Amino acid sequence: MTPPLVLVIEDNEQNMYLARFLLQQNGFGVAEAWDGRSGLEQARRLHPAAILLDIQLPEMNGYTVAARLREMDDLAGVPIIAVTSFAMVGDRERCLAAGATDYVEKPIDAAVLLSKLRAHLGADAAAPAPR
Ligand code: MN
Repeated sequence: MTPPLVLVIEDNEQNMYLARFLLQQNGFGVAEAWDGRSGLEQARRLHPAAILLDIQLPEMNGYTVAARLREMDDLAGVPIIAVTSFAMVGDRERCLAAGATDYVEKPIDAAVLLSKLRAHLGADAAAPAPR
């Protein structure tokens, strides 16, 4: 069975590394995009099972990326988990208003991220990788 693919849109190398490690350890496939424009292209091309979207991105921020993703008809049901370092009141609402399905804060808590991904993926959720 092909593992569910998560597209990670993240411009920070350490955060990308952490996300990839976490996801792969837990049975997900990973595609990487380092900016919003390439994230949109890959989403269109790869049809990921879920998208992990950094909000602070160069040029096109995550709010804009989320809104553009939601304009793609064939990606309408794909869960988008926004990742933000802002602890600002209203930030969560802004992510959701832009089209994100849910929200996690940096630094990413592995258990929180995985439980949210699994909840939103439902039957498509990955089993942990065999050891
Ligand atoms: Mn960033």
